[in-house]
Amino acid sequence: MFEIIAVSFVLYSLALAAAWLSSSPGTGIDNAAEQEKKIIEIDALLPQTQCGDCGYPGCRPYAKAIVERGSPIDLCPPGGAVTVRKLEKLLGRSSYHHDLAPLPENTIAAIDEETCIGCVKCIVACPVDAIIGSARQLHVVIPEYCTGCELCLPPCPVDCISMIPSRP
Ligand code: SF4
Ligand code: SF4
Ligand code: SF4
Repeated sequence: MFEIIAVSFVLYSLALAAAWLSSSPGTGIDNAAEQEKKIIEIDALLPQTQCGDCGYPGCRPYAKAIVERGSPIDLCPPGGAVTVRKLEKLLGRSSYHHDLAPLPENTIAAIDEETCIGCVKCIVACPVDAIIGSARQLHVVIPEYCTGCELCLPPCPVDCISMIPSRP
């Protein structure tokens, strides 16, 4: 009798350990197909510049780390606050970098047409190709593409880019 109880206990412990090992600390998803689906969904929300600024070698590795290792969802500077909010919605959890300042309101870049000298530096800086224009021509921001990352602000030599509230 004692042997049966002992064997049952060992089998039960092994089952628990296997379940724990196979589960994802990031999302709690323990099914490989579901994990892959979530990785693809997250990857689709990332800017795909493959810049590595998140600390991972590209957008998909970052998506994978979010799902499999529970990495924070606010590590993508090109994606900005807009991407964080989309990830929050998709994953049903908030950004948990509590030591960082609260996310700013959704903003997008706007270029002052009177001041722009058409130097193209903002186009080079924009990771998501949200600015159009050519040399010595007025440059404009495509609101639908702009993630509000503010990376175009520092390079502008005439300081004619500002952040404005995005459309609701
Ligand atoms: S920082 Fe954003 S855009 Fe750059 S590789 Fe990471 S996820 Fe992709
Ligand atoms: S236009 Fe500026 S703020 Fe908008 S995504 Fe490009 S670099 Fe970022
Ligand atoms: S960096 Fe400034 S001045 Fe140069 S094209 Fe962009 S908005 Fe115009």
